[in-house]
Amino acid sequence: MRSETKVSGDTVKRNGYSFVTISQYQFVLIERFAKVLVTELNKYPTDFIMNSGLKEVTLVANLRVGGQRRVAMPESETRTLYFDVNYPGARDEYCSHAIHHEFFHMVYFEMHNYFYYKDPAWMELNYPGFRYRGGGGLAYGNYQIFKKQKPVSGFITPYATYGLEEDMAEIFAFLMTRSGFPILTYWMQVDQRLFNKTNYILQLMSSRSHGFNLAYLKKIHGE
Ligand SMILES: [Zn+2]
Repeated sequence: MRSETKVSGDTVKRNGYSFVTISQYQFVLIERFAKVLVTELNKYPTDFIMNSGLKEVTLVANLRVGGQRRVAMPESETRTLYFDVNYPGARDEYCSHAIHHEFFHMVYFEMHNYFYYKDPAWMELNYPGFRYRGGGGLAYGNYQIFKKQKPVSGFITPYATYGLEEDMAEIFAFLMTRSGFPILTYWMQVDQRLFNKTNYILQLMSSRSHGFNLAYLKKIHGE
């Protein structure tokens, strides 16, 4: 597991979040993350990115939101995705997942002008009486929570049970990653709720970019 490198940039503090800018001496950190970033962003049809509202991607170190260490943060005002290239223990696979997960939050914000919009049609897809646990921030820092698969009917990870927006972002990230895609398509066959939810996300994707569908994903994942 990769440990945190001591960085020697300037600390930038803004409303609710902070980070350290990376000096040229830590270029190796940027290079490593950027390779993953380029590979993952290249998977998207150009018009999907154009319609996403995303304006900028900023690579920083030691990102904190409300004091809590984060691997990534979507910032709605400037439509910027911040990524921490120095997040402790983050393997490439974890970074790939985080890139798509956070990008989804930006796409969802662009659609509803709100990160936490409670889509009533989505709520219908959960089992009756289900309630989300109240926001992804509660589970953050528990890295293990991303690794364990298929905890509850209709949810791809335990993290997905923390909030509607996290549930959607998790399915989206599984669709977009090479390691996640076969896991999700397997569970779609045995879990009707997950099947319905994944189709909902696929519809959302093709509504933003014609031709961005399951066949497209199978192609990019080499299936
Ligand atoms: Zn999230």
